[in-house]
Amino acid sequence: MSSKPSFTLIGGGLVGALLAQQLARRGFTVDVFEKRADPRVAGFAGGRSINLALAERGLQALRSAGLAEDVLRRAVMMRGRMVHTADGRSGLQRYGVDDSEVIWSVSRGGLNTLLLDAAEAAGVRFHFGQALVAADFDAGRIRLADARGAEREHEAPVVIGADGAGSALRAAMNAYRALGERTEWLGHGYKELEIPPAGQLPAALRGASGGHDQFVIEPNALHIWPRGGYMCIALPNTEGSFTVTLFLPAQGPHPSFATLPDAHAAEDFFRDDFADLLPLLPGFTRDYDAHPVGTLATLYLDRWHLDDRALLVGDAAHAIVPFHGQGMNCGFEDTVVLADLLGAGDRDTQAAFAEFQRIRQPNANAIAAMALENYVEMRDSVADPHYLAKRELGARLAERAPAHFMARYRMVTFTHLPYAYALERGRAQDVLLQQLLRGSSDAASVDLEAAVATLQATLPPLPPLRHG
Ligand SMILES: Cc1cc2nc3c(=O)[nH]c(=O)nc-3n(C[C@H](O)[C@H](O)[C@H](O)COP(=O)(O)OP(=O)(O)OC[C@H]3O[C@@H](n4cnc5c(N)ncnc54)[C@H](O)[C@@H]3O)c2cc1C
Repeated sequence: MSSKPSFTLIGGGLVGALLAQQLARRGFTVDVFEKRADPRVAGFAGGRSINLALAERGLQALRSAGLAEDVLRRAVMMRGRMVHTADGRSGLQRYGVDDSEVIWSVSRGGLNTLLLDAAEAAGVRFHFGQALVAADFDAGRIRLADARGAEREHEAPVVIGADGAGSALRAAMNAYRALGERTEWLGHGYKELEIPPAGQLPAALRGASGGHDQFVIEPNALHIWPRGGYMCIALPNTEGSFTVTLFLPAQGPHPSFATLPDAHAAEDFFRDDFADLLPLLPGFTRDYDAHPVGTLATLYLDRWHLDDRALLVGDAAHAIVPFHGQGMNCGFEDTVVLADLLGAGDRDTQAAFAEFQRIRQPNANAIAAMALENYVEMRDSVADPHYLAKRELGARLAERAPAHFMARYRMVTFTHLPYAYALERGRAQDVLLQQLLRGSSDAASVDLEAAVATLQATLPPLPPLRHG
C-alpha cells in the first residue's frame, strides 16, 4: 500500500481534470467525482463559454503535464485584438512583439475531453454523474447524488474542491467553518451567439477574412466590437465558426439585457450598434432566444482550506470576470503549484495547503483586479486616443528599454511573472506614462531619449524572465 495520502477531487472540469492528472503522475491515488455525465460518452454539456483563450501560464501548466502539443494542435492562434469601430472600420492591435507572443482559442469541450483522457491514462478514477451534496469533515466522508437523486457515501479524508464558481464543497466548508466569503456581482451579463463557417454565409460577406476560405473574418485574432458601456467579442473555432459573446449591463436603461428581452428587440439594437456584425449572425434569433444570460462575479475568500481536510482550487476558490481571459489560465497555474507542493513530500498536507494559499491568494486577488480593469479597457479604451497614445509610448519604451518596460498585458499573458507583480509594476508604469504624456494624445510628441532616462531612473529593471 502507498504511504502517500489519497485525494478525493470534486469536479472534473478544466482545473479538476488537470490537477487530477498532475497528482496521479506524482504517485497519488486520486478519485474524481463529477456532477455531469462523462462528456466523452454523453457529449459535452457546456454551461460556460464555448471556447476560451489559452495563454502562456496555462500553456506552461500543460507543458509540465506533457499535454501542450496536443492542445495546440486543436487551437487557433490569435495574434491580437481586431477592433471593429462603430463606423465599420477595423484594425489589428497586436498583443505581443511577434508570433512568439500570441494566445490560442481552444474549445472548452475538446480541452476537457483531452484532460479527462490524460488523467485517466495517469491512473485517476473518475465517477461521473455524481454530485457532491454534503460533506462530514469530522468523519472524513462525503455524500453524493446521481442524476436521479439516489445518494451514496464515500470515504474522503482529504477532499479538494475543483467544482467551479458555485462550489458545493465551498458551501459545505463555509457551513462548517466560515471562509470569509464575499461575492461581488459585476452587474453585467453575457450571451453567446455564433458566426458560422464562411461556406454557410453569402459570398458577398467574405471580404474581411484575409484570404482564409473557411473563416468569414480574420481567424487569427480576438475580435472586439467596443461600444463604450458594452461590447461584443468573437473567438475563432477550428472548424471555421466564431463564438460571439455580447457583454451588456443586466439591468438599467437601454441598452441592457432587461431592455432587450427577446431577439426582436435585440435585432434592432444590433442593427444600430453592431451593423457590420449582424449580417454574420444568420442564427441570431434562434441563438438570442435559446441562450440564457450568464452572470459574472468575482469571488473573494479569506480562507481556501480547512486544515488538512479540505482545499479549494480554480474557480471554486477565486472565480473572476473573464475580461483578461485568465480564469482557466490561473486555475491551471494553481494545479502546478499545488501538485509540486504536495509532491515534494517535505511538508505534511496541512502545511502544503497553507503554503498553496499563501502563494496563490495574492496572485488570485491581483488577476481579479486586473480582469475587472480590463473590461473597461476592452469595451471602451481600445478606441480612446489617450489610451492608444499610452499604448504606443509604452511600446516604444519597451522596444528601447526592454529590461525596464513591459506592458502589463504582456506580463500577464506571455510571462510567468506573478500576477501580483504585474499589477504593481503595471500601476507604476502607468503613472510614468501619464507623466510623460502630460495629457497629450500624441506619443510622438514625447522626447524618447529623455523618457527612457526617466524610466530607468524611476523604476528598477524587470525580473529575469523564464521562457517556455
Ligand atoms: C464567458 C466566459 C468566458 C471565459 N473565457 C476565458 C478565457 O478566455 N480564458 C480563461 O483562461 N478563462 C476564461 N473563463 C474562465 C474559465 O471558464 C474558468 O476559470 C474555468 O472554467 C475554471 O475551471 P474550474 O475547473 O475551476 O471550474 P469549472 O470549469 O466551472 O468546472 C467545475 C466542474 O465541477 C463540476 N461540478 C459542479 N458542481 C459539482 C458538484 N456539486 N459535484 C461534482 N461536480 C460538480 C462541474 O460540472 C464542472 O465540470 C471564462 C469564463 C466565462 C464565464
